[in-house]
Amino acid sequence: MTLQGLQGSEAQAPRRSGSARRISVLGATGSIGTSTLDLIGRDAEGFEVVALTAQSRPEELARLAIKHRARVAVIGDEAHFEALKAALSGTGVEAAAGAQALCDVAREDTDCVMAAIVGAAGLRPTFAAIAQGRRIALANKECLVSAGDVFTAEIARQGAELVPVDSEHSAAFQLLAGAEPGSIEKIVLTASGGPFRLWDQAALEAAKPEQALKHPNWSMGDKITIDSATLMNKGLELIEAFHLFPVSAEQIDIVVHPQSIVHCLVMYKDGSVLAQMAPPDMRTPIAVALAWPARMAAPTERLDLVRLGTLTFEAPDEARFPALRLAREALRCGGTAPAVLNGANEAAVAAYLGRRIGFCDIARTVERTLEGAGKEGALRTPACLEDVLAADALARRLAQAHIKGYQ
Ligand code: NAD
Ligand code: MG
Repeated sequence: MTLQGLQGSEAQAPRRSGSARRISVLGATGSIGTSTLDLIGRDAEGFEVVALTAQSRPEELARLAIKHRARVAVIGDEAHFEALKAALSGTGVEAAAGAQALCDVAREDTDCVMAAIVGAAGLRPTFAAIAQGRRIALANKECLVSAGDVFTAEIARQGAELVPVDSEHSAAFQLLAGAEPGSIEKIVLTASGGPFRLWDQAALEAAKPEQALKHPNWSMGDKITIDSATLMNKGLELIEAFHLFPVSAEQIDIVVHPQSIVHCLVMYKDGSVLAQMAPPDMRTPIAVALAWPARMAAPTERLDLVRLGTLTFEAPDEARFPALRLAREALRCGGTAPAVLNGANEAAVAAYLGRRIGFCDIARTVERTLEGAGKEGALRTPACLEDVLAADALARRLAQAHIKGYQ
């Protein structure tokens, strides 16, 4: 069988040469994780997979670990350890389980760790990965939103390199390469507007999870898809951009662009505006993060501007989508406010997906939780990861109380 034939099948990847880049994928079974492995599988000589992790679905994790010849596979939920061990028996892939094991493998020596766990659950493993001082390809935006300065200080302390995977931030990262901080006037992040862009307030109140999960352009995990519908995703991305790039909060704008072709624009002080474009497929920003400053092939649809014809832009409506305003307020407030915003949002999104609250109750829960945490004096500047995790836990507790009130 030819090499090409092997890569397209379930067969194992060939053994790599000494020059292959070593990579671990945290959250390997998710949308970003599988897109990353899709790219890696097409360049099997170029990568050596060290560790793959997931929280659940041990058979799927084992299948990916065998296919990509990972050295170790880790399942976060220990209840799935026996199933993982059974699925890996005789394959030569090591199995491990539990929260500590997730951090231990994240610390294993590699050239790059793809941080693609969803939510604040990614905080400890991603911090562990920073300790090796190599490249962190960061998809897990909640981690940077919650831990902010604590996260970037740890990156600097360990001499690690942070390359964003989020499409808008990957775009900004490329557009800003070599820029003098003083030359940047604005960064404009685009938002698709989500499935409810044109819905009125009454319709939003009644929006069902299955409707919110139908994103018009992107195929993503459930949590970020709901965040895209509320526009909290763009709020989180505003905070993410603030920590990644040398600009103030006021220098970051949000524009709704329903076609999701332009991902970010950078306006320079000479009036030049640079835009990054690509069809909405995360394999492009993932390829940027894996190969930068080189470029690797990604088998995505190519942009055809003539077929597209029109690209449109409009202002976001913060009255119907208050999550944007809440994120901006949390960023302005600083301290643990972004961690509280994020923790409350995660709790509220889970409650919405569990049909315990309505769509608009997500932002209400976040707003009330922020108010409650402020009254408790809990929005102080975090000194370390434990302070961030304490704020996250408090936010979830306060949010649950509000969620009960809606039932
Ligand atoms: P997903 O739900 O598809 O996958 C999440 C992965 O994390 C899975 O492998 C899952 O097993 C693992 N996981 C879940 N809970 C965990 C826990 N408690 N402990 C350890 N592992 C856990 O999510 P996704 O859409 O791939 O998103 C991953 C991250 O990337 C998110 O932070 C998201 O905001 C960000 N992101 C995603 C996209 C996208 O297109 N999907 C785009 C930009 C940014
Ligand atoms: Mg994004």
